[in-house]
Amino acid sequence: MRHLTDTHAHTVASTHAYSTVDEYFREAAEKGLQLFSVTDHGPEMPDAPHPWHFGNMRVLPRIKYGVAMLRGIEANILPEPRAIDANETLMSFMDFGIASLHEPVFPPVDAKTHTQAMIAAMETGRIQILGHPGNPNYPIHIEEVVRAARDNNVLIEINNSSFVSSRSGSAPICVEILETVQRLDWKVALASDSHVHYTIGDVDVALSKVDAIGFPEAQVVTMNPARLLGFLKEHGKSVADELSEWLKAQDMPAILEM
Ligand SMILES: [Zn+2]
Ligand SMILES: [Zn+2]
Repeated sequence: MRHLTDTHAHTVASTHAYSTVDEYFREAAEKGLQLFSVTDHGPEMPDAPHPWHFGNMRVLPRIKYGVAMLRGIEANILPEPRAIDANETLMSFMDFGIASLHEPVFPPVDAKTHTQAMIAAMETGRIQILGHPGNPNYPIHIEEVVRAARDNNVLIEINNSSFVSSRSGSAPICVEILETVQRLDWKVALASDSHVHYTIGDVDVALSKVDAIGFPEAQVVTMNPARLLGFLKEHGKSVADELSEWLKAQDMPAILEM
């Protein structure tokens, strides 16, 4: 089955990324993707957009060229006592949030510290996806992290870039994480982590790992917009209602599997 969404992409609003919102919309439409998300970096990252970037995303169209776009953030996980750099007010503008560990904001410490920080981020209730947890610079206690994700209804991201171009050495850890998610009967989000529009929707390597271990396709929440929006509704996000008419018009046999 085709993977029809992408929950992780950066625009020119993060200066180490190179594409505009419109370039992403066009590329997604050309590729037959049904939904993607803009998730620029949270305020503590050196090249993050000003916080107003997030508050003003309402000016962006929900749908363009037949493709839907979600308004997101890739928040930074912070050292204790703070958890993430996205407060309630900022998150009230967002359709969802990813939380990730990034070296410029959180210098690596040890597995116990990284594990606790990830869990604290998920326990805020403000994020829905744990971003690229397979980074070898941040060893973690995988089972503890996945259990906390399940307890807090947070998806574990299987980041395609981690296999292809970023965070070298991630691949075996990402597979171990995927196997742990399967064993604990939890759910994942597959995403490209695009920094340029040409790669939007590219999750082929992540998808091949899902196939290789026989991970249940029904537990890939990002497989289609219906499943993803249904998940966001569980988090009280109104975007599911805003896109309900558009959703009905999509050709999605998998809607019955929600
Ligand atoms: Zn990241
Ligand atoms: Zn990213």
